[in-house]
Amino acid sequence: RQEQYRALRDVPATTRDGVRIGLHLNAGLLVDLTHLQETGAEGIGLFRTELQFMVAQRMPSAAEQQALYRAVFAATGDKPVTIRTLDIGGDKILPYMRKLEEENPALGWRAIRIGLDRPALLRVQLRALLKAAGGHPLKIMFPMVATVDEFVRAKAIVDREKAHLRRHNHPLPSECRLGAMIEVPSLLFQIDEIAQVADFLSVGSNDLMQFLFAVDRENRRVADRFDPLCAAAVRAFRLIAERANAAGCPVTVCGEIGGRPLEAMALIGMGFRDLSMSPASIGPVKAMVLSLDVAAITELIETEMARASDGVSLRPALTAFAKAQ
Ligand code: PEP
Ligand code: MG
Repeated sequence: RQEQYRALRDVPATTRDGVRIGLHLNAGLLVDLTHLQETGAEGIGLFRTELQFMVAQRMPSAAEQQALYRAVFAATGDKPVTIRTLDIGGDKILPYMRKLEEENPALGWRAIRIGLDRPALLRVQLRALLKAAGGHPLKIMFPMVATVDEFVRAKAIVDREKAHLRRHNHPLPSECRLGAMIEVPSLLFQIDEIAQVADFLSVGSNDLMQFLFAVDRENRRVADRFDPLCAAAVRAFRLIAERANAAGCPVTVCGEIGGRPLEAMALIGMGFRDLSMSPASIGPVKAMVLSLDVAAITELIETEMARASDGVSLRPALTAFAKAQ
């Protein structure tokens, strides 16, 4: 199997009916970037910057942050990288930061909420990113955005940092695109608005499912209570794909769901064309893509959704379809 996947490294991820699917990597540390060559992924779809903060003994300095980002751009060369700003809080604790006593940390002070309330932290990171990407294209995305306004405010902070660097004659990125993670369900109901202001979107299905079904992503006891291929979840995913595609706003799925072949197949049938996943998933997902007929899977999803009014899972139908491919 491993050998077989390795042989696919340089084969483009194109379906049987000629649809190109972008397969990207999730990464968080420099060592992860070695997988870029080895898997033949198109780029880094999600770089989790909090990893550097989580493995450190103290808050990484501006210089340390910049050094890491520089190394990321050096290692990825011409391949695109999407860097996510600090996603801390919730289950991601920094040992050197005062621990907050929160009743519900997953719903608490975390990610972009900290970034907007303590802009100094976000500004240091953004400045490090903008400097490290001087002369190169840069894609930044914000985690846990719950309202369009939060995105707009985060964007204003980026603009301020860009102006600051311009004033000091620092080379700016050749292009700077800003995206929002879709992982808080409230954004499902502002999807047209966020697609208007963001340059791209990325679905964080791990958190989106956690909050949509009120099921703790770390709690095994409740993990099996819902299927991410059930009608309610599929409706949420389809809504995002349809509206983003209609608005011409590029959209990627970067949660774990995109790395499982059956789920990835379903996502393609719902309209997603870019998936970001862990290195080990690239081979199996690419093998699935090569044998897939997009027109057929799209039709299957439509037919199944038309009669899935009882909220059952599409999994059995999708499994049967995959077997017949
Ligand atoms: C997600 O929530 O799906 C996601 C990609 O982000 P993380 O797993 O880092 O929360
Ligand atoms: Mg998340």
